[in-house]
Amino acid sequence: MTDYLIVGGGLAGVSVAHVLRKHNKHFQLIDSGVGGASFAAGGVYNPMVLKRFKMVDGAAMYLDRMHAMFDEISREHKKDFRHPMPILRRLSSFEEQNEWFLASERYPQYLSDTVVRSDFAGIDAAFGYGEVYQAGWVDVIGFLQFYTELLEKENCWRKEEVTYSKFSFESGFIRYGQQTYRNVIFCEGTAVLRNPFFSYLPIVRNKGEVLNIKTTVDTNGNMIKAGVFLMPLPNGDYKVGATYNWRSPDNGPSEEGRKELMEKLETFLKCEYEVTAHFSGIRPTVPDRQPLIGKHPQIEGLYALNGLGSRGVMLAPACAELLFDFIENQADIPQEVNLSRYAARWQPMDRI
Ligand SMILES: Cc1cc2nc3c(=O)[nH]c(=O)nc-3n(C[C@H](O)[C@H](O)[C@H](O)COP(=O)(O)OP(=O)(O)OC[C@H]3O[C@@H](n4cnc5c(N)ncnc54)[C@H](O)[C@@H]3O)c2cc1C
Repeated sequence: MTDYLIVGGGLAGVSVAHVLRKHNKHFQLIDSGVGGASFAAGGVYNPMVLKRFKMVDGAAMYLDRMHAMFDEISREHKKDFRHPMPILRRLSSFEEQNEWFLASERYPQYLSDTVVRSDFAGIDAAFGYGEVYQAGWVDVIGFLQFYTELLEKENCWRKEEVTYSKFSFESGFIRYGQQTYRNVIFCEGTAVLRNPFFSYLPIVRNKGEVLNIKTTVDTNGNMIKAGVFLMPLPNGDYKVGATYNWRSPDNGPSEEGRKELMEKLETFLKCEYEVTAHFSGIRPTVPDRQPLIGKHPQIEGLYALNGLGSRGVMLAPACAELLFDFIENQADIPQEVNLSRYAARWQPMDRI
């Protein structure tokens, strides 16, 4: 019998795999290879909600856990997928400057108490920038590819679309096909809406699109945030993102998304640029904007980690640790992130 089956190899599933591997658990991760939101993500981590100058709930704990995971990977494999860099939030008026100063008094660990006056040729920022500390981005695709190859070498990974009707439940274990598992953790992002065991969770699809561009601008290693972010990439190009679309029925890159990003970019980028790539994906969001971690309301041994929304990079490592401690050490999962807060939506099954 295998200790764990993980379904889904995006940021959620791979973060769970990292924790299980660290604790020498015997597990299999199965991923369909279709690729979810993680493969489109800009990879930004940022302790602040910059639209409202508010801190992300639990930011310090999430950042600590995220760095701990990448430190562990870097120590073992001599590879680091993080690119720490300040975010310069472009301020658009004297009123916004004042709001920034008020916010910086509340969050001095994350926000500069002065307005930064950096003149980047080609960027219009008459009111300067507020600087966000402890931010950066993670090369998500590089990280997921590296981890997937590692798990494949260790015979812990396989490519397959998991079929929910193949699960059966027996006392003390769960059967999937020919294999038996003690625990199954579902990490399928928005595909959970097709999962009969967890589709009761209030996951809302939110389509996002990003562009890569070539431009003459040089932001000197800073990420600019001004409606959209403009993030320098190692090859000299920049990433521009992201859109948030709750209504789009399809998953692919769209003309509408490209136009929206270019219009927002051109409000502050005043030089030539060329679009070199266009990506899209569907974020698994939750109405109360908190992740979903925990056990199934009825079926023993079934768990989910989902609802990472627009902050999967920062949230996934801590959520994976919370779930592991809950399963193995009977530790509590805080109510605000515990999927039990939606248990009333579950319609009990007669036959399991
Ligand atoms: C355009 C865009 C930009 C973003 N930018 C950022 C950013 O800058 N910073 C940030 O923190 N977050 C960002 N996000 C959000 C981030 O991508 C998500 O929070 C995160 O990727 C969710 O990860 P996940 O593992 O839960 O889901 P997913 O990444 O969707 O992974 C789910 C996986 O499950 C697999 N799967 C599904 N069903 C099955 C099945 N039946 N059998 C086998 N496998 C299955 C899929 O193939 C997939 O690999 C962005 C999202 C988008 C779309």
